[in-house]
Amino acid sequence: MRVFKFGGASVKDAAGVKNLAQIVSRYKEQIIVVVSAMGKTTNAMEAIVEAYMTRDLARLNACVDEVKIYHKQIVAELFGENLQRVDGLWEQLDAKLKSEPSLNYDFEYDQLVPFGELVSTSIVSAYLNKIELQNEWLDIRKYIRTDDVFRSANVVWDLTGQLLGSKIAANKNRLFVTQGFIGSTETNLTTTLGREGSDFTGAIIAHVLDAKSLEIWKDVPGVLNADPRWYPKAKKIDELSYWEAIELTYYGAQVIHPKTLKPLQNKQIPLLVNSFIEPEKKGTVIQSSEQNIDLQPIFVLKRNQVLISMSPKDFSFIIEESLSDIFQVFSKHRVKLNMMQTSALNFSVCVDASKRIASAIEELQKQFDVRYNEYMELVTIRHYNQTAIDEIIDGKEVVDSQVSRKTARYVLKASDWQFK
Ligand code: ADP
Ligand code: ASP
Ligand code: MG
Repeated sequence: MRVFKFGGASVKDAAGVKNLAQIVSRYKEQIIVVVSAMGKTTNAMEAIVEAYMTRDLARLNACVDEVKIYHKQIVAELFGENLQRVDGLWEQLDAKLKSEPSLNYDFEYDQLVPFGELVSTSIVSAYLNKIELQNEWLDIRKYIRTDDVFRSANVVWDLTGQLLGSKIAANKNRLFVTQGFIGSTETNLTTTLGREGSDFTGAIIAHVLDAKSLEIWKDVPGVLNADPRWYPKAKKIDELSYWEAIELTYYGAQVIHPKTLKPLQNKQIPLLVNSFIEPEKKGTVIQSSEQNIDLQPIFVLKRNQVLISMSPKDFSFIIEESLSDIFQVFSKHRVKLNMMQTSALNFSVCVDASKRIASAIEELQKQFDVRYNEYMELVTIRHYNQTAIDEIIDGKEVVDSQVSRKTARYVLKASDWQFK
């Protein structure tokens, strides 16, 4: 059995759904197809949540209409008529939106945003059936069970394995279509796994079912040595070890969700990153690798960073106690540290700009002199060489840097990027 995952870009229109069907039709073995919400639907659903929670009814109606019209066009193009299951889902959404919201934003988010995935998989499944790729639509919430940390739910692995294992074992179907990104608690409340979480869903399913592979179909030829939207010369990497891939997602490479790799590595299941645009071409294989694959420099850019520097008010050293206090404050305010640097009298961190850092800084100021620089960018170069470093930092203002054996990292003042 293989697990395939198709992201929003791959099913953004009717042609995308047809292309997905083409790809799936080339295989003969059992496949579970995990699909995200279509195009940018999750962003649109987030706007619906915001309008619902703030009781901005005019905006709410406009956002809901927009989402419905977008899907209606795709359904019309694929079927020439309405789909009952999709209409039923919109009725459920309307009923939910008529009710009074609770006070828990994250809970309400998880009750609304998953309609994107429920609708997209209903359309894909119906289309595959229409062209005689018989398949079963699975409501993944019956199988992937989580705790109740809404918007960032944690998987209950044993239960998920039992439920999904017995469902698939007792089933002779070759093809299943199901949702990424969502799950549910033991008490059947819908949860989500965090934005971009569909890659992770694919890995959960592959792990608990001991799949042969997880294959994620993207609008790029595979994992490239940089984000092509930033670095136009980016080239495909044929093979990566799990270790290297985890490092890249940790540094912020957005091509794979960071949680995806562990469940696969633990069962030695290869991850294939393929192109849905050129599906016959070989993408990137991520697997255990004995030998050291000879790697070219890989670049990861994180934009919109803030560099925060702290020094003790009484001129004392930065010691373990002060570090422990600092980490507690960041953890409490859920601020993720992208880079850390310490010296005798100073500790600095690079973090994503967000509303949360203001409250963290306020708390740190009780104990430390805190300075911060906004509008920074953090560039990581794995397997750096001098040419790669020059290419990144020439003509830039370097505010901080950290160089280890395999990795060079630079905090730069944000500026335009132009590569020769
Ligand atoms: P999906 O919707 O399938 O999850 P994403 O948009 O999350 O797709 O991921 C694919 C995008 O990731 C590509 O379009 C590309 O712009 C971006 N990307 C960032 N870094 C890389 C990289 N190192 N290699 C390939 N793509 C990258
Ligand atoms: N649809 C969700 C999102 O856009 C999950 C995913 O696409 O991975 O975040
Ligand atoms: Mg993604």
